[in-house]
Amino acid sequence: MKAKFATTCQACGEQIRPGKQITKDNGGRWVHNYCTETEIP
Ligand SMILES: [Zn+2]
Repeated sequence: MKAKFATTCQACGEQIRPGKQITKDNGGRWVHNYCTETEIP
């Protein structure tokens, strides 16, 4: 989904800006879409 607010990605530590594609990790924290994809082995 698209971010509706600014937050920090818990996977890479970089800022998430509104409009970016984000998703929740297993812990329910917001991360970039591509950060969860790269975590999968
Ligand atoms: Zn990230």
